[in-house]
Amino acid sequence: MSSQTLNQFLTDNLAALREQGLYNDIDTVESPNGPIIKINGKEQINLSSNNYLGLATDERLKKAALDAVSEWGVGAGAVRTINGTLDLHIKLEEKLAEFKGTEAAISYQSGFNCNMAAISAVMDKNDAILSDELNHASIIDGCRLSKAKIIRVNHSDMDDLRQKAKEARESGQYNKIMVITDGVFSMDGDIAKLPEIIEIAEEFDLISYVDDAHGSGVLGKGAGTVKHFGLQDKVDFQIGTLSKAIGVVGGYVAGKKDLIDWLKVRSRPFLFSTAVTPADAAAATKAIELLMESTELHDRLWENGNYLKKGLKALGFNIGDSETPITPCIIGDEKTTQDFSKRLYEEGVYAKSIVFPTVPKGTGRVRNMPTAAHTKDMLDEAIAIYEKVGKEMGVI
Ligand SMILES: *Cc1c(COP(=O)(O)O)cnc(C)c1O
Repeated sequence: MSSQTLNQFLTDNLAALREQGLYNDIDTVESPNGPIIKINGKEQINLSSNNYLGLATDERLKKAALDAVSEWGVGAGAVRTINGTLDLHIKLEEKLAEFKGTEAAISYQSGFNCNMAAISAVMDKNDAILSDELNHASIIDGCRLSKAKIIRVNHSDMDDLRQKAKEARESGQYNKIMVITDGVFSMDGDIAKLPEIIEIAEEFDLISYVDDAHGSGVLGKGAGTVKHFGLQDKVDFQIGTLSKAIGVVGGYVAGKKDLIDWLKVRSRPFLFSTAVTPADAAAATKAIELLMESTELHDRLWENGNYLKKGLKALGFNIGDSETPITPCIIGDEKTTQDFSKRLYEEGVYAKSIVFPTVPKGTGRVRNMPTAAHTKDMLDEAIAIYEKVGKEMGVI
């Protein structure tokens, strides 16, 4: 018999979530995750993926994965430290270091796992972490796991960061102090102020940690936010994911050789969890090779992003101040935002609503993620649907 306490807990809490309209019913995608997807048997223009460069369905990556399966099989066989480090993992890490312009890199099973791994390998209860209030959930969890003191910093507020860094340093309470930030903030598409952050880090001897999940493949001609600002020699930890622009799955930390050597002996997800499969490693390596050979996909992503932004703005939508292809369409009220997204879906545009508490109250938005794989026709159609729904609902 299952636990009565658990049953009660689940029944009560699920009912409460459903009553508040906060239960998320997950849609099943019945097609590959490309620019057009099928949901409930109906085709939708997909503006909700993180597949920025369209690589998730790229023929060259598919071939690399299939070849790797033929040659290496489907699994790594063991954790990396026992005998699960395949030649393919080493190749991937060498490519990543080259791509990021660092001495070395280490790969993990996901971007989320990187943050579980890397922060607590270096930080402990005698340390402090200055963390932007809009940092990703995995950064927050990684900080908590380390048991360091977490000092929340107002979003991209450099005066606040400087003040708190100064206080933390002058208190003499902490051995090490880290500053940690997303490279690109995915809700608004704004870029971290890395030049100022690094200046403050140098002034107060802070360890710098940039999670560039949404920047890699997008900024710095593809190499990411750190490269965009030319700071590859100054940022201690460069975190990335292989699941967004790279189109596969996995994560990595790039940095100095000593740091990577340390993570190989001290980061628990590396030591106690099996690495990505041969297919994942080979496909991700192929993706990085493609990005290093040509900026074609990167350029098309920006062209499409700018095209969509221009179209929505011309219609009178509030698209915020994004500095990347991420295009929020800010509707405001939570209920209207959700209804708006639902109407878009009925008309054939798949763009998700993001509301409080993920974003501040009254700034509900439908977030659009254009990719390199969208055609102008698809974007024109999406813009026309936005116009229709916007007028119908009195948003424009
Ligand atoms: C998406 C994201 C992650 C998680 O990456 P996965 O590879 O999907 O686990 C981590 N950090 C940030 C900032 C992200 O945006």
